[in-house]
Amino acid sequence: MASDQLLPEFLDHCRARGLRVTRERRSVFLALGEAGGPVTRPALLRRLLAEGMHAPTLYRTIDVFVANQIVQPVSRNGESAYELLPPFARHHHHFHCLSCGAVSALQAADEHIDLQVPGKALYHQIDVYGICGGCL
Ligand SMILES: [Zn+2]
Ligand SMILES: [Zn+2]
Repeated sequence: MASDQLLPEFLDHCRARGLRVTRERRSVFLALGEAGGPVTRPALLRRLLAEGMHAPTLYRTIDVFVANQIVQPVSRNGESAYELLPPFARHHHHFHCLSCGAVSALQAADEHIDLQVPGKALYHQIDVYGICGGCL
């Protein structure tokens, strides 16, 4: 899905939470959508440098997105990467190769997860670790 198709949903999400949609927030959201998977902050910054993005603004924006359930942090080769959460991306889990460090998405059907949560669950992550086909 092209990320600009997700823009109306993003605007609604921000409006519902009283979040101001600045030019920078909009650019970061679109770049995350174009990345189509987990992307590190340095990689996002490289994508947005041409638009005049500064690292502190990008980092603050990502923190705001995490706090507002727009993105979730994902560990990628020991580095933090960020990816869009549903409804901006399909819900999925991750497979991490312990040999080459590759991370791939596992489509989730979604399984019934019966956990006793001491409060209200907002989202979940499932990480499966193993050896990928290429490394086997
Ligand atoms: Zn591998
Ligand atoms: Zn799931």
